[in-house]
Amino acid sequence: MKTENLIASGREVLMNTYNRYPLALVKGEGTRVWDVDGRAYLDFVSGIAVTSLGHGHPLVVEAMKEQLGRLVHTSNLFWQENQIALARKLTSFSFADKVFFCNSGAEANEAAFKLARKFARVHGKSSKTQIISLQNSFHGRTFATLAATGQWAYQKDFVPLMPGFSYVTLDDGEALRAAVNEETAAVILEPIQGEGGVHPVSADFMRLARALCDEHEALLIFDEVQCGVGRTGRLFAYEHGDVIPDIMTLAKALGNGAPMGAMLAADRVADAFQPGDHASTFGGNPLVTAAGCAVLDVMMAPGFLEEVRTKGASLKHALQKVADACWDGAPVRGMGLLLGVTVGEKAPGLVAQCRERGLLINCVGGETLRFLPPLTVSREEMDEAMGILGQLAMNHG
Ligand SMILES: *Cc1c(COP(=O)(O)O)cnc(C)c1O
Repeated sequence: MKTENLIASGREVLMNTYNRYPLALVKGEGTRVWDVDGRAYLDFVSGIAVTSLGHGHPLVVEAMKEQLGRLVHTSNLFWQENQIALARKLTSFSFADKVFFCNSGAEANEAAFKLARKFARVHGKSSKTQIISLQNSFHGRTFATLAATGQWAYQKDFVPLMPGFSYVTLDDGEALRAAVNEETAAVILEPIQGEGGVHPVSADFMRLARALCDEHEALLIFDEVQCGVGRTGRLFAYEHGDVIPDIMTLAKALGNGAPMGAMLAADRVADAFQPGDHASTFGGNPLVTAAGCAVLDVMMAPGFLEEVRTKGASLKHALQKVADACWDGAPVRGMGLLLGVTVGEKAPGLVAQCRERGLLINCVGGETLRFLPPLTVSREEMDEAMGILGQLAMNHG
């Protein structure tokens, strides 16, 4: 009842930019959320890979509460303790030496593109401005990141797009070889495409991208906004392979819901930025970076990520059993707790039926079910979710 009223009220005052599910959530605890009418759900969406430690994780809540009462914002006119502490953690756990903080994934990618162009210019190559991304990628909705997002459906109503972007098909080595040249400033890719339907990039393609970037003095950017920060069972997805990017972008899970993004690079690259080149008023403020520090402390505690890998393998196995029995053996894709399976046009219907039975999942690209439980999900919760899904798939396909 309350749900209907709230939705009617929302339609009157909110811009119509989202296809929202008919659900208004008001409370969360761990893997569970409750709607405004008091119904409970298992949350296998996690705010799109954001609340990776579950809702209300005690250490994150504690860190934010403490910071909230002390100091929330100062701007980057001043040095900030928590920002430095979080940057130190991020650099000590990654290939990077320096961090720039912002407020979202799109902003992190914007910062990466600016750094790539500045890097070329500093090295005397001001005509080196082109950015290559992948078809079906997702890098954000701002003008530069929309141009990088290789999906015409998102772009078509907003032309002219920002110039300087071109696209190659995922894992098409020949196309990549043909595309990278002396005008290429950077190649950007998601190690696992998230919004595009949970498609991992092959190790060979990543190695080729690395080799071509080296050959043409272009930078390799990994957009780990969705697959980074523990989601795949390593702190960063690039750790699964042998390719190290020059720049990495993060956001989503970094603050467990506190809005923040980060752009990381090695000194060789980061040195191209000088005061005045880029900025963010809110970026890395004391409140969100307090959350970020707590998130990394939890994830880097001994055994945490190993447990994510084990749980991810079990969930993938359980999903594959459902797919084998009901969906013609469609392969379950992804790593850790970023999993997807393409089931065709019935995907949106299955998402709705799961929701009616108390399980929240979502669907990407219209035909792929995506599973993003919190990394803290329990075995029992995974069994419960697979029970709901398995029964629905059995009864309705
Ligand atoms: C979500 C996402 C973005 C955009 O992040 P926002 O915070 O919505 O701007 C960029 N890249 C990837 C891979 C994403 O999944």
